[in-house]
Amino acid sequence: KIPFEIEEIRKDFPILKREVNGHPLVYMDNAATSQTPQQVIDAIVDYYSNYNSNIHRGVHTLSQEATDKYEAARKKVQDHFNAAHSYEIIFTSGTTHGINLVASGFASLLKEGDEILVSALEHHSNIVPWQMLTAKTGSILKVIPMNQDGELVMEDFYRLLSNKTRIVFINHVSNALGTVNPIEEIIKAAHEKGAAVLVDGAQAAPHIKADVQALDVDFYVASAHKMCGPTGVGVLYGKEEWLKKLPPYQGGGEMIATVTFEKTTYADLPHKFEAGTPNICGGIAFGAALDYMNSIGFDNIAAYEKQLLDYGTEKLLEIPGVRIYGISRKKTAVISFNIEGIHPYDIGTIIDKLGIAVRTGHHCAQPIMDYYGIPGTVRASFSFYNTTEEIDKFIEAVKRAKTMLS
Ligand code: PMP
Repeated sequence: KIPFEIEEIRKDFPILKREVNGHPLVYMDNAATSQTPQQVIDAIVDYYSNYNSNIHRGVHTLSQEATDKYEAARKKVQDHFNAAHSYEIIFTSGTTHGINLVASGFASLLKEGDEILVSALEHHSNIVPWQMLTAKTGSILKVIPMNQDGELVMEDFYRLLSNKTRIVFINHVSNALGTVNPIEEIIKAAHEKGAAVLVDGAQAAPHIKADVQALDVDFYVASAHKMCGPTGVGVLYGKEEWLKKLPPYQGGGEMIATVTFEKTTYADLPHKFEAGTPNICGGIAFGAALDYMNSIGFDNIAAYEKQLLDYGTEKLLEIPGVRIYGISRKKTAVISFNIEGIHPYDIGTIIDKLGIAVRTGHHCAQPIMDYYGIPGTVRASFSFYNTTEEIDKFIEAVKRAKTMLS
């Protein structure tokens, strides 16, 4: 049973009507970026058609309208993630920007010998900024290992966590495997040792509504483009005390209180971290995307996507030679797999000819691929607008690819 009118939902997405290589598009690359409903497209068109203007500085009507809508969008993001204050919501260009902002700020807080913990399941954008941080500060990076099921080895986490740990950064959901990590437990244990926690919510945010106060997380980052919004905008939630402690990431207009050549004082939160003209339209469209997803309801989304995951997993495993990577019982609707003796890229190329969009490769998570000793996987990632009929088409296409390539 589907908890919403799936055919009505599909009508909201104009792109789902298009054909690819003579076949109806079957879009299963949602973990890379999600599709955009008409409601969000309308918000973008409305902005550029009716009140395109710079914010926070003009006295004229358009500037005030744009400022009001942008700040209203910040409030929507605040409500969605249940932040205590709207000024704890920093608009960024995306997850990568949010992580770099925090990592760069920690350079002034860490000293040689301090330790930072990362997990083996991270995306490159939650690895590289911290490596750069260790190079700057002489701090030490330690890695929480994973197991064959694609889960973190929690005994090792407890072994690695110590009074020297300053920050733990971990994704809520792995983009390569779909594993949902036990972030509640990690945050609690880290806090007991006095360490901060940054959660990369890029892959969780489209499926799970995180409550930053209930989680008691210090930083939570996500990208709008994975949640039915546009590219080039995202959110960094930070606890007030941390955002006050961190220095600004970029200098420029909008982030200052006063400037003379002798000295500059910085603006209050959130503007201290929002230098320059932001992605105004993007922020507003992000708000519209959250409205859209919340109108469907995250419980409904999760329940339906679980049906898609179970169905897709069962059907795929019926094909001889298929191996699925990451079989945690707690995972989002991501199936990362290979067929024995066949390169993932070849499968992706053939099924694209049949109109099916999946991702192939290392998914910006090379350490995971190294762990399994593979060059990459085929990753089908579902969204609430996918259907079991589409999964059937995908399975047929994979079977055809297998026959052709064997
Ligand atoms: N972290 C994870 C887990 C991701 O899946 C992604 C996007 N693939 C990112 C970070 C980076 O997000 P963005 O490219 O939107 O900055």
